Amino acid sequence: MRMIKNFIGGEYVDPLGEPKYDVYNPAIGEVIAKVAEGKKEEVDKAVDLAYDAQKKWEKVPIPDRIKILFKLENLMWDSIDELAEITTNEHGKTFQEAKGDIIRAIQNVESAAAVSYHIMGENNRNIAYEVDEELVRVPIGVFAIISPFNFPLMIPFWFMPYAVAMGNTVIIKPSEKTPMSMEKSMELIKKAGFPENVVQLVNGGKEVVDYILENNKIAGISFVGSTPVAEYVYKTGTSRKKRVQAGASAKNFILVMPDADIENLMPNIIGSFFGNAGERCLAGSVLVTFKENHDKVVNSFVDHAKKLKIGYGMEKDVDMGPLIRREHKERVVKYIQIGIDEGAKLILDGRNYKNEKYPNGFFLAPTIFDFVNPDMTIAKEEIFGPVASIITTNNFDEALEIINRSRYGNASSIYTKSGYYAREFVDRVEAGNIGINIGVAAPIAFYPFAGMKQSFFGDLHPQGGLDHILFFTDSKVVISRWST
Ligand code: NAD
Repeated sequence: MRMIKNFIGGEYVDPLGEPKYDVYNPAIGEVIAKVAEGKKEEVDKAVDLAYDAQKKWEKVPIPDRIKILFKLENLMWDSIDELAEITTNEHGKTFQEAKGDIIRAIQNVESAAAVSYHIMGENNRNIAYEVDEELVRVPIGVFAIISPFNFPLMIPFWFMPYAVAMGNTVIIKPSEKTPMSMEKSMELIKKAGFPENVVQLVNGGKEVVDYILENNKIAGISFVGSTPVAEYVYKTGTSRKKRVQAGASAKNFILVMPDADIENLMPNIIGSFFGNAGERCLAGSVLVTFKENHDKVVNSFVDHAKKLKIGYGMEKDVDMGPLIRREHKERVVKYIQIGIDEGAKLILDGRNYKNEKYPNGFFLAPTIFDFVNPDMTIAKEEIFGPVASIITTNNFDEALEIINRSRYGNASSIYTKSGYYAREFVDRVEAGNIGINIGVAAPIAFYPFAGMKQSFFGDLHPQGGLDHILFFTDSKVVISRWST
C-alpha cells in the first residue's frame, strides 16, 4: 500500500512512523493509501529548516517572490484536471466540484500576487520639526497551516500563498483523511521555484498538531476544522504566544421569503444543501420558510432533491458523491434517527439508498425533515451530511430570532425580491458570510472568509483582504530626525 510522503528539506521523504491512518476512495469504499503519524523529530526538523529559510526568503525582493507565485498559478492551471481527479478520489466530491475547489485555490495564488500593494507602509513627514514617522510591515517567521478533510487542496491555499508572499515560510499539515492533493501540489510548488524549505509538508493527525503547538519557533497557526479542535488549537496556541486564526464548525440557515423566485432559484438552494454531500462549512442545513410559502417551497425542494444523481464523482452526470467515511455516514444516520425520535417528520429518507455499481461506497441520499422545532438536536448541531431540516415561522422577525439563536455563525442566506428585507437581513443576522439569493456564500479570494460566534476563533479571518495582511505581518514604527 502506498504511503503518503512528507516534503521536508526540499524533497519528498518517506515518513519515519508506521502506517496509522487509511485514505479511502469513499465512492468505492477501498483504502488507496496510508498515512503515518508524524514524529516530533520530523516536525522539529521541518520547523528548523523553515526558520533558517525564512531569514533568507524575507530578503528576496517582492517582485521575485511574486514571479514564483505566477509560475505556480500557471502550473496549477496546467494540472487542474489531475489535481481535481486526485481530490475526487480521496474525498468523494464530484469532479466538477473538485475543479471548483482548485480554481478557488488558484484565485488565492493570484490574489496573493497583489501583495506589493497591500504591504505598502504608511508615513507622515514633519510630525515634529524635521521629524518623520513611518510604519513598515515586516514578515514574522514560520507559520503552520492545519486543514480539514473537506477541501483538501483549497483550504491550505487560503493561507500559504499570502504567508509566503509576505516573506514568511510555512509548514502544511493536511487532514490525515485527504492528504493526496496537497502531496501532489508540493511537486508544483517545487517546480514553481520556491527556494528550499519555504513550503514544507508534514503529514499526520493530532500528534503532529501538538508538536506544532509545542514548537517555539512557530510564530503563528492558521487552522480550519471542527469547533472543539479549533478552540483547543486557539487556546493552546495563543497561551504560547502564537498568533492563531481558527475557522470552525457551522450550522447554516437559509431563509426563503414568500416573494422569492423559487422556480429559478431552487437549484441554487439544492446546491447549498446537497453539494459536496453536505460536507461543506457553508452548506445550507436548516431551511426556514413562512407558513404562507411552506407547501410551495417544500414540494419544490423535495422534487429537486429526489432528482439528484448519486455516485462516483469521476463519472459523468453525477451530482452528489459519498460521505467521507463509513463511520461518518453512521454518525449522520444516527442524527436522522434522533430527528425521528424527537418528533420531526421525515419526508425524504436517504438511508436506504444503494449504489449498484459501487455497493461498498459510503453513500447517503438526500434526507429531509419537515416540521422541525428550533430546539431539536437536528436544528442545532452540525450534521455535516445531506440532511436538511425545515422550520416554519410566522414572520421575518421570528425567523431571524431563530437563526440568531444558533451558537454558530458561519453563513446564512436569504432568498427574496425585497431590497428592504435583504438589507435588514444583512444588518441583523449573526453570520459572517451572507448570501442574498445565493445559497453558498463563499467569498472570493480577495475577501476574508468571515465566520462568527463558535464558527471562528481569533480576530483576523482566513483568505485574502486586509485581515491576512495583518495576520501574516507585524508592524514597525520608525521615527527619524534628519537635520542639517
Ligand atoms: P477536524 O477538526 O476533525 O480536523 C481538522 C484538523 O485538525 C485535521 O488536520 C486533524 O488532523 C486535526 N485534528 C483532529 N482532531 C484533533 C485533535 N483532537 N487535536 C488536534 N488536532 C486534531 O475537522 P474535519 O472533520 O477534518 O473537518 C470538518 C469540520 O471542519 C467541520 O466541522 C466543518 O464545519 C469545519 N470546516 C470549517 C470551515 C470554516 O472555514 N469555518 C471550513 C471547512 C471545514
